[in-house]
Amino acid sequence: MQRLQNTILEMIARGDGLRETVDYLCNAVERILPDTICSVLLLDAESRLSHLSGPSLPGFYSKAIDGVAIGAGIGSCGTAAYTGRPVAVSSIATHPFWQDYKHLALSAGFLACWSTPIILSDKVMGTFAFYYRTERNPTRREKQVVQACVHLCAIAIERDQRVIERQKLAQTDALTKLPNRKAFNDKVACLDAGSRSWGLLLADVDNLKLVNDRFGHLAGDDLIRSVAERLSGLGKNCQSFRLGGDEFAVLVECDGREELVEIAERLTVIMKAPTLCAGQLINPSVTVGGDMAAEGKPSHQVHQNADYALYHAKERRRGGFVEFVSGLGSAIARRYRSIQDLTESLQDGRIDAFYQPVVELSTGNLRGFEALCRMRTRSGEIVAAGYFHEATRDGQAAYDLTQRMLETVAADMRSWRDDGLYFGRIGINVSGMDLYRGGLCQRLEAVFGGHGVPLDRVAIEVTESVYLDQRDETVAREISRLRAAGVFVALDDFGTGFASLTHLLTVPIDLIKIDKCFVQRMASERAGGVIIKGLIDIADGLGIRVIAEGVETPEQVQLLTDLGCQRGQGFLFSRPLERVAARALMKQQADNAALLAAAS
Ligand code: C2E
Ligand code: CA
Ligand code: CA
Repeated sequence: MQRLQNTILEMIARGDGLRETVDYLCNAVERILPDTICSVLLLDAESRLSHLSGPSLPGFYSKAIDGVAIGAGIGSCGTAAYTGRPVAVSSIATHPFWQDYKHLALSAGFLACWSTPIILSDKVMGTFAFYYRTERNPTRREKQVVQACVHLCAIAIERDQRVIERQKLAQTDALTKLPNRKAFNDKVACLDAGSRSWGLLLADVDNLKLVNDRFGHLAGDDLIRSVAERLSGLGKNCQSFRLGGDEFAVLVECDGREELVEIAERLTVIMKAPTLCAGQLINPSVTVGGDMAAEGKPSHQVHQNADYALYHAKERRRGGFVEFVSGLGSAIARRYRSIQDLTESLQDGRIDAFYQPVVELSTGNLRGFEALCRMRTRSGEIVAAGYFHEATRDGQAAYDLTQRMLETVAADMRSWRDDGLYFGRIGINVSGMDLYRGGLCQRLEAVFGGHGVPLDRVAIEVTESVYLDQRDETVAREISRLRAAGVFVALDDFGTGFASLTHLLTVPIDLIKIDKCFVQRMASERAGGVIIKGLIDIADGLGIRVIAEGVETPEQVQLLTDLGCQRGQGFLFSRPLERVAARALMKQQADNAALLAAAS
C-alpha cells in the first residue's frame, strides 16, 4: 500500500492525466483486494455524478450511472455524495437505496456496494466505491485501504481541476470572459476535419480609440464588454472570441453563405443600439468581414480571406459587412506594396513637395500654389502622387505623409518669405485619415508656428467624399477648428456630390475646387456648363471662392471666365514645379509687376 501510495503521488506530481492515475490506482487496489470491484465517480457543479474510473465495471453499467443526480436514497454512491458520509449496503437486492437501480447492479453480478465520499476542504468531489459479488460489509483492512485511496483521489482531482482552471484562464479573455485568440486558433485548427459547414466573421470595433481618448479607458472597456455581450447573444450556432484590442471573431455553424450574410448583417444592426459606457451614452458600431468554409479550402485560408474582407470593409463600409470575393486578396496585396513603397520613401527622405501654380484666369497672374507630393524612386525617377494615392488610405502612412508635406511646405514658405517673394496661399492635400484621427489643426499650428509662418497663408484640401462623410462629427469639428485658426479649407474634387450642396450650409468651407473631369467635359456637354454656372452662383452667394482644376486649353479658360469662374490651375498654365522653378516663377511675376508699375 505504501508503495502504491508513492507511485500515485509521483504520477500526480508528474502531471499524468487524472483518469490514467485513478485507473492505475483502481487496478492496483483490485490486485491487493481481489474480491473487490472499484468504481470512482466525480461530482460536477450541477450535483451529478460522472464516471471517472472503474476498469472492471461492465461498460453498460458505467454508462447507466453516468450523469445520475445525487440525493438521499439514490444508490450507495448518490447517497454518500449527497450526505458526505460512507454508505455500506450489504444487500443490494433488498436495500431501499437501491430500489431503482438494483436491476442494473444485479445483472452485473453485484450484490453489495460500499461507497465512500471523496472530500476536500469540506466539499464532496466524488465517490470511491467497492462492489462485491457476495452480500457483505467491508472488512477492516478494506477500510484502511479505502481511507488511503480517497485521500489520493482527492489530491489527484484537485490537481486536475487546477490544471483545467489554468487552461481555461489561458484561453479566456479577462475583460469579456470570452475565449481568446489562443482558444480561437485551437478551435480553427480543429475545424479542418469538421464535417458541418461553417463560416467565419471577423469584427472590428469602430472608434474605440476615440472613445478611449475622449471618455477614458473605463468607457473603452465598457464598450468592449457590451460589444462582447451582443456578440454572445447571436445564437446557438455562433461562437464568439475576443482576439485582442478591438478585434472579435465569430465562428458560425451554417449551411451556406446566405445564412452567414444574414447573421453578419444582423450583427452590425444590433450593435448600433446605444449603450452606457462609464456614464456616457455611446452607439457602438462594428465593421465586419467574413468568408465561408468550402471543400478544399483550409481553415487558415478562410481566416485570411475574412481578414482581407474586414480590411476592405474598414475602408469602404465602416459599420457594415463585406463578404470575401476572389480578387480582393490581390487588390489588397497591391495596396500593401503601395503602402510599403510610401513608407520606405518617407523613411529614406525620397518624398518631396512640387508646387502647381493657381492663377487668375483673365490675367494668368499667380494667386497661389497647390503642393503635390512626389516620390523619387531609388533609380531617381519622379513618381506623381496619383500612383501611390491608394497608400494614403492607410492611417499611419497618411499621417506620416501629411507630416512630411506640412514640414516641407512650411520650410519652403519660410524661405520664400525671407526672400520677400509673393506666393499667395498654398494648398496642402490631406487624406480622410488625418481628419478622422483629429488633431490636424494642432499639427498645423505646431509646424507652421515653428517656422513663423501664419496659418492664413495655408489652405487644407479635403476631398468631397471625406467632407460628405458624416459618420462621426470629427470631420466637421476638425474643419471648423481649422477655419477658426485662420486656415482656408478647400473642398477638393468637387463635382460628384451635388445633392449635398446643402451640406455647405452646415459645415462651411472657404474654397471649392471643381474637379478636372468636370472642366474637361464642360466644352462638349452643355449640361456641364450649366451646372458649373449654378455652382459658381451658389458659391458666390455663400462667399465661397472657386478654383477650376485641370485647365488644359484656352477654350476652357474662355468658357470658365464666361461662367464667372476667376481662378484656375492646370497644365495650360504650368505643371507642378520643383521648388527652384516655383521660386523662379514667383521672381518673374514680381519682376513683371515691377515693370508694369514702372511703365504706368
Ligand atoms: P488632386 O488634389 O486633385 O491634385 C491634382 C492632380 O491633378 C495632380 O495629380 C496634378 O498633377 C494633376 N493635374 C494638375 N493639372 C492638371 C491638368 O491640367 N490635367 C490633368 N490631367 N491633370 C492635372 P497628382 O499630383 O498625381 O495627385 C493626384 C492626387 O493625389 C491629388 O489629386 C491628391 O488627391 C493626392 N495628393 C497629391 N499630393 C498629396 C499629398 O501631399 N498628400 C495627400 N494626402 N494626397 C496628395
Ligand atoms: Ca488637391
Ligand atoms: Ca482635385
